[in-house]
Amino acid sequence: MSNQPIRFACNGCGVCCKGRLIPLTLNETTQWLQRGHDVAVVVEAFNESTWLSQPGQYAHGAQRAMEVDSGSARINVVAVLAGNALEKCPNLGEDDRCGIYEDRPLVCRIYPMEINPFIALRPEEKACPPQVWEAGEILFTDRVVDPILTDQIERSRQADRDDARAKIAMCESMGLNVAAWKGNALAVYLPEHATLLAAINRHDAGESAPEGKGWKVRADDDELRERLHSLGVSLDDQRQGEYIFHRV
Ligand code: SF4
Ligand code: SF4
Repeated sequence: MSNQPIRFACNGCGVCCKGRLIPLTLNETTQWLQRGHDVAVVVEAFNESTWLSQPGQYAHGAQRAMEVDSGSARINVVAVLAGNALEKCPNLGEDDRCGIYEDRPLVCRIYPMEINPFIALRPEEKACPPQVWEAGEILFTDRVVDPILTDQIERSRQADRDDARAKIAMCESMGLNVAAWKGNALAVYLPEHATLLAAINRHDAGESAPEGKGWKVRADDDELRERLHSLGVSLDDQRQGEYIFHRV
């Protein structure tokens, strides 16, 4: 983490609202769907070996995930619900202003700060134009300076922990049980709007609970496949599931 004070003043250019997926909490997902917009489900799996020399990072990841059975192995699976803004956010107006500004998701309030405590803020990797980093209040030194931002980041992390099991239950109830291996690829599902909303409603009504069984991992690299196979992880050999396999 940097000890250099980083200044920031958003200029409202709207670039961060285009060409991406917007991670949402479970409540925000319901609101997003109720507005008629689509939500993707991104599923990743990992275990301790993913961060062998960084146990703190594994612990952080495990809190956002649920431990499930895959073959004879136990692995962690995390599901991220994300508003589809791959072309542009459906809430973005023609004037590049947010149409739901007062109700925008936490992640939009936090950007360009990082939510993951193990990822350093790197202005050069953000969508924001260079000039916005040269003005405004100090945002960050060796920690987040703004107490409101600090609170929003903590609320986002807490929601990730609180929602972890519910999101896996929803995946299971929709039959989405293939994950990609963290750091290798993402398994991106684009469920029907009504299907996802029904899965959330079932969970809210207490009608679905995660079983944590029968999970598979899609891995195309020979070395990774061998490693997962030796761990007893069940591999998805169908490779024709209803997901987009996106290598990272
Ligand atoms: S909800 Fe608003 S701030 Fe968030 S990506 Fe969409 S337009 Fe941008
Ligand atoms: S890209 Fe950066 S400067 Fe532009 S609207 Fe988003 S946060 Fe503000």
